[in-house]
Parts: sequence; structure tokens; C-alpha cells
Amino acid sequence: MSDCVFCRIVMGEIPCAKLFENERVLAFMDINPVATGHVLVIPKAHSSNIGAMSDCEVAAVASALKAVAPAVMKVTRAEGYNILNNCGAAAGQAVEHVHFHLIPRIHGDGRGYRWITTSADPAQLARLASEISKALL
Ligand code: AMP
Repeated sequence: MSDCVFCRIVMGEIPCAKLFENERVLAFMDINPVATGHVLVIPKAHSSNIGAMSDCEVAAVASALKAVAPAVMKVTRAEGYNILNNCGAAAGQAVEHVHFHLIPRIHGDGRGYRWITTSADPAQLARLASEISKALL
């Protein structure tokens, strides 16, 4: 898509700090990193979200994340990492070309990642699991 910033990066029309690519996937440094070594892994073909990707693309992106994560850990001396996909504007997706953030983490780095949790009613969990199970395509 000509108006998609990540498609333009794939096409070489916008520069990026590329660290990995193959036929289906590109990985490059996030221009506004949450932490040093923050990487984005994307499918080269435009999809707005994971549900629109082919199974082959999903597998290729997962393989790339698996390969890139230990290299990022090694170089940044991180002790862990978050892999994050914001899907939809409601979840904070700003760039409408599906991408996976790989964010290196160190104990006490102060970046935190805290969901506000609630305690669940087991009967409600069972009902939801049943409904979601039936909704699977
Ligand atoms: P999200 O909120 O999940 O859509 O995140 C989009 C991410 O893309 C942000 O972390 C941006 O910093 C990053 N980003 C946007 N434009 C570029 C670019 N030209 N090169 C690298 N990263 C970018």
C-alpha cells in the first residue's frame, strides 16, 4: 500500500535500521524505542492484523521472532523481553501494517508492564471458554 509507512520501508522508499530479512519478513529497529534494542518484526506483505495474514506468514514472523530475540538479548544484555502486538486502534495500534514489538527488558528497568487484573468467577470463565470455543472458525 503506497500510503503505508511499513510498506514503504519494505519497498526501500523510507530508510530503516534493518537487522533481518527473508522472503516474507523484515525486522528493523523501532524509531521511537521503548527500550534500547526495541525491534519491530513485520510481514513484508501488507495486512492490517494477524487475522488477515496467511498461516505461512504467521509462521515466518514467529520464526523470525524466535531467531531475533536471543540476538537482541545478547547485544543489549537484556534479561528478558516482551513480544507485543497492538491489534486495532482500541489496543493502541498506530501503524496499520501488522507488526510485533520485541522489547528487551532488564530487572528494575522501570518500564513496567502492569495490567489491571480482576479476580474471575469460575462459572463465568467456563461460560466464556465455551462461547469462544464455539466461535472458533
Ligand atoms: P503501534 O502503536 O503498535 O502501532 O506501534 C507503531 C510503532 O512503529 C511505534 O513504536 C513507532 O515508533 C514505530 N514506527 C513508526 N514509524 C517508524 C519508522 N519509520 N521506522 C521505525 N519505526 C517506526
